[in-house]
Amino acid sequence: MDRQPVLTQISTMDALMSGGYDPVVPVKDLHRYGDFGIGTYERLDGEMVMLNDTLFQILLDGTARTASIPDSTPFAVITRFQPDTVLVPGKGMPLDSLKNGLGRILAARGVPCAVRISGSFENIRTRSVPPQAKPYPPLDEVVASRQKITDTAASTGDAVGTWFPPCMKNINVPGFHMHFISGDRKTGGHLFDCVLAGGRVELQTIGQFHMIMPPFAAVPAGADTDPMKKTTERAE
Ligand SMILES: [Zn+2]
Repeated sequence: MDRQPVLTQISTMDALMSGGYDPVVPVKDLHRYGDFGIGTYERLDGEMVMLNDTLFQILLDGTARTASIPDSTPFAVITRFQPDTVLVPGKGMPLDSLKNGLGRILAARGVPCAVRISGSFENIRTRSVPPQAKPYPPLDEVVASRQKITDTAASTGDAVGTWFPPCMKNINVPGFHMHFISGDRKTGGHLFDCVLAGGRVELQTIGQFHMIMPPFAAVPAGADTDPMKKTTERAE
């Protein structure tokens, strides 16, 4: 049996960017692909965090709840988290500095990585998005006009996410994409900024990539017109 770590992506980034918010995989089936990851929910109803095999849904107001079984996801990235590297950064590290340092390590590996940052955080800026109605607007429009930003002064918690190499820029967002969930698992969101007051970083190098294609009906017309470059830059 192949024991290499595998990163499974539900749907394509182009489909999501173009408004592909219809169900692709029921959340109850995500556990087949791992216990760790990020994504969103049907109709773009909030941000997804999967941590220790528990799925959280972070609603527009930044509150988190465990995902309910009837839910589905239009887009997610999931793996079985078995970190190969643990680092303890200096205290009071801004997220940008942390990303720069980690990015150099990960660029040398050149393959996707799963990233978990655990500890005490300050100046946490997150966002979430509300569920959309059909006809679904593209993701950049939702982010530009309907996202809600939440600022939290301090919290323990986990930042969960991925790093993709530049050579995969048409498959997922190159660089880091992190979602935050508080230590009490009650708040979180797509992570824009924070300071890691103290904690550790775990990295998992992943050499295999598995994609679950959306059914044709779930891909909006226009998803083949290459809206991706500008929309990923604006949305992430
Ligand atoms: Zn996100």
